[in-house]
Amino acid sequence: MTGSLTTHILAARYLRDDENSFTDVCRRVADAIGETQREKETFFSEMHSLRFLPNSPTLMNAGTENGQLAACFTLPIGDSLPTIFDALKWGALIHQSGGGTGYNFSKIRPKASPVRELDGMASGPVSFMQIFNQATEIIRQGGRRRGANMGILNADHPDILTFIHAKEREGDLANFNISVMVTDAFMACIRDGKQDSVWTTHPATGDEVTVGDIWDAITGGIWKNGEPGVLFYNEINHHNPTPLLGEIDAVNPCGEQPLLPFESCVLGSVNLTRFVKEDHIDEVGLKQTTGIAVRMLDRIIDKNTYPLSRIETATKRTRKVGLGVMGVHDTLLMLGIPYDSAKGRVLCGHVMECITTAAVETSHVIAVESDSFPAWDNSRWNKCPMRNAALTCIAPTGSISLLADCSPGIEPVYSYAYTRRHTAGSSFAMLHPLFAQDLATAARDRFSSQPEVDQEINAVISHLRRTGTVQDINWLPASFRRLYKTATDISWKDHIRMQAVFQPRVHAAISKTINMPHSATDDDIAAAILFAWGSNLKGITCYRTGSRREVVYAIGEET
Ligand code: ADP
Repeated sequence: MTGSLTTHILAARYLRDDENSFTDVCRRVADAIGETQREKETFFSEMHSLRFLPNSPTLMNAGTENGQLAACFTLPIGDSLPTIFDALKWGALIHQSGGGTGYNFSKIRPKASPVRELDGMASGPVSFMQIFNQATEIIRQGGRRRGANMGILNADHPDILTFIHAKEREGDLANFNISVMVTDAFMACIRDGKQDSVWTTHPATGDEVTVGDIWDAITGGIWKNGEPGVLFYNEINHHNPTPLLGEIDAVNPCGEQPLLPFESCVLGSVNLTRFVKEDHIDEVGLKQTTGIAVRMLDRIIDKNTYPLSRIETATKRTRKVGLGVMGVHDTLLMLGIPYDSAKGRVLCGHVMECITTAAVETSHVIAVESDSFPAWDNSRWNKCPMRNAALTCIAPTGSISLLADCSPGIEPVYSYAYTRRHTAGSSFAMLHPLFAQDLATAARDRFSSQPEVDQEINAVISHLRRTGTVQDINWLPASFRRLYKTATDISWKDHIRMQAVFQPRVHAAISKTINMPHSATDDDIAAAILFAWGSNLKGITCYRTGSRREVVYAIGEET
């Protein structure tokens, strides 16, 4: 591992007091999770080679006094103070241990409804979200990172407009991502132009909210600052592997895990760049790593220290794990295939199919060796023994992709040269190594003298730092520009197309940002959400360039 950012992340997040290197971290984690010496060695080797990394809580906490290893949790909230404040307390414990929580606040009665016990008026779900936000602010996870929440409200809740506007002012509910849960019936109204249909009526005041009111608030909110996200209830529940255990109304903070109340899920990601062999993907190696990763994630379920016994019970009933990929765009670059091309999508579909198939095979083998997950009898898997009710998803890999030094999840590279401000305060000048190499070749082909070559290379990098794109540099060959598109160069349709390639090939869901240009309108955003729904996605998160001040990647900043 090279590069100061990687070293910085390692020290700031993962090293314990008595550790000096990534090797130490891998050793600690493998020793804590592996059952036999052979298993410990296998797990160590997969992590140390950066072929596979489990989620941050495992890397931080395995083998320490805080043995909480999962990233994703969802907690139920009812319409009573005890259930609301129970969830607040449990959420605090989860954050303290390094996890993120998702909540659906829809059961809380709307603002201005009567409260019988007090002869007063209810304050509504959004007022309670403020308390959850504040609690998260206070509980910093051992100083390592701030907690994360997903707040969800169903579109038919009478407070839906207040909810959608709750983050309008930058800084409000800063520890929440918010999402509106919509049904197919709601989306059909949009598709069919039935914007005037009344979607929800306040039980006490009689105020009506139409489909159009909700839709305009959603698209307007996204235009303004990228929120809310939209979750597609029917698609999520259509793929619920254990429908008899109940419906799914919540997802974890970044959206990749729809979970039942009290379930938790440990994630892990295969670094696809490690499987590039000249002009193809080493599928044999990929399947082998997938098998080991599934065994490791499944072991973690038993080795984990759960923040609450109800979470342990719910998690062990379905034994869901979340195996995904990272380094997808880097892999495409290594193979010379544009992200937004049919060829790229075919390759990605094939790779994800390969991973999920191998994961299911391994889960089946473990079930035969030991047992299926306890709720298996009543699950959609009940024809074939399975250890885990769900195996694959696509996580953001925000931190572990930095450790592995690859592009995050299935996202396109944000910029090939930029300044990265780390939350700990330092900043790093980044230059993508493949880009740098191909740029040098292109410059040597085009310019004759070395000083000219150097000067043009520097000009490109400085242009990139300033603007984030090379698409407008005319001397660069068309094929170079075609390959080195960034997240903001790629059209929103192609972003969604890539998400749609992965979705049917993973069991759970996908964390992905659909980047839209600064010039995108409300209508473009509406079209994107409809396209996502029509593409059978489980949710969509859009971001219009420049609509938020606080961004981790700082383009235009000199180093
Ligand atoms: P990492 O790369 O650190 O393993 P990801 O960026 O892939 O993590 O995020 C995976 C999940 O971890 C998120 O969807 C969320 O549930 C949880 N998570 C991420 N960041 C935080 C945070 N700061 N606090 C709590 N949970 C988090």
